[in-house]
Amino acid sequence: MQYAKNILETIGNTPLVKINKLTADLPCLVLSKYETFNPGNSVKDRMALQMIEDAEADGRLKPGGTIIEGTSGNTGMGLALAAIVKGYKCIFVISDKQSKEKMDILRAVGAEVVVCPTDVEPEDPRSYYSVSKRLGEETPNSWYVNQYDNPSNTKAHYQSTGPEIWKQTEGKITHFVVGVGTGGTISGVGKYLKEQNPDIKIWGIDTYGSVFKKYHETGIFDEKEIYPYVTEGIGEDILPENVNFDVIDGFTKVTDKDAAVYTQLLAKEEGMFLGNSAGAAIKGLLQLKEHFTKDDVVVVLFHDHGSRYVGKMFNDDWMRKMGYIE
Ligand code: PMP
Repeated sequence: MQYAKNILETIGNTPLVKINKLTADLPCLVLSKYETFNPGNSVKDRMALQMIEDAEADGRLKPGGTIIEGTSGNTGMGLALAAIVKGYKCIFVISDKQSKEKMDILRAVGAEVVVCPTDVEPEDPRSYYSVSKRLGEETPNSWYVNQYDNPSNTKAHYQSTGPEIWKQTEGKITHFVVGVGTGGTISGVGKYLKEQNPDIKIWGIDTYGSVFKKYHETGIFDEKEIYPYVTEGIGEDILPENVNFDVIDGFTKVTDKDAAVYTQLLAKEEGMFLGNSAGAAIKGLLQLKEHFTKDDVVVVLFHDHGSRYVGKMFNDDWMRKMGYIE
């Protein structure tokens, strides 16, 4: 008989799926690393399990402990699944701009969810960075995950996502395109791929309102780049330690409107029911058209599933209210 001993053993080994209609104007082959096949429906299952296993191994996480994290939802889901299998409690701190579905889903897998305001400085005691840190200090037998600066985040992608992409493309990949939030995905995959072939180009997708692109181009952390935005999962107002700018060749920024519209287009044109950062990633990839030639093999990573966005990017009333569609 062939079976997984528990749900955690089904993490990883996701398929590569060709994109057809949306990329018809590009000269190259475009393949998507389709991470919604993970049990928590996102790429984050990989790093969540890695962070927990590394914390268990060096004693930061002890039996019966409480896992605390500031998470926009997907990391929380990955942590919660692993916590159920391994017997830990979870408290997640989430910002109020995240979709209600994401909060409901985290509660459905047994986590306690604390909601914080988005539009305050990271140093503000109400911010989700501050609240998650404080809960970490106050809760007995707890472990504060800190996915932004936790090296196990990048390591998960260096050890699993990167090698899978290299193997699945038989080493033919020429470009990797991916949205950047904590930076774990781009840094882990980027480092692995560049070690196999330094000519592979690594492109990050950023959003208007985030610091990454300007910082990468100038080395300046420009506070004028920071303002509220709608796109979920990518962009930051901090520089997480997991963003390794050395393995990134460039960033392109995608507008909130384009990210939302292309999230709908992936579903309607490709049958790919995916999250908002997938819309940003495919639109960003199209913006990079002049970098691609006939023999290139471009891989774009799609982080999460469309079900978490039914109240927003997949709701035409919301899309009209935002001015994204007529
Ligand atoms: N897309 C979604 C939906 C996410 O939740 C995240 C994580 N914040 C990202 C993209 C960015 O991935 P990473 O944190 O590895 O940079």
